[in-house]
Amino acid sequence: MDVYVDKTKCTGCQHCFDVCPVAVFQMKGRGTPDNPDAEGANSDTAPEEMKWKGVTDKAVYDKWANVQDGHKHFAKDNDGTSGGISVGVNGSACILCQACLIECEGECIHITDDTGAKYQSIYK
Ligand code: SF4
Ligand code: SF4
Repeated sequence: MDVYVDKTKCTGCQHCFDVCPVAVFQMKGRGTPDNPDAEGANSDTAPEEMKWKGVTDKAVYDKWANVQDGHKHFAKDNDGTSGGISVGVNGSACILCQACLIECEGECIHITDDTGAKYQSIYK
């Protein structure tokens, strides 16, 4: 199983980290303007156009930036509850329970199973 996050759309809500039963995700900091990957935000298999380069998709930002739901959105660092950016560091452990696919605010989680079938999060 391969799991990666489209970093351009990750809000940092941390739902994926919280619901995954096998610890596929880690929350990383968003680095600095001159080094967005300073804290390892790109340490999963996301393709080039989905890597973290310090720029968030405008439509996702506009949708979530001012939402008051108890989670930090687009915060630079994670405080243990939200913030930062999610990285699929342990995709081989995924059991395809699909919990993260249901919960992902940014609709930015991509999973490819061992047959090559692809799954993507669609927020309810
Ligand atoms: S589908 Fe995979 S990555 Fe997502 S929550 Fe389930 S085990 Fe974790
Ligand atoms: S659930 Fe989606 S938007 Fe929220 S932190 Fe995880 S990957 Fe990012």
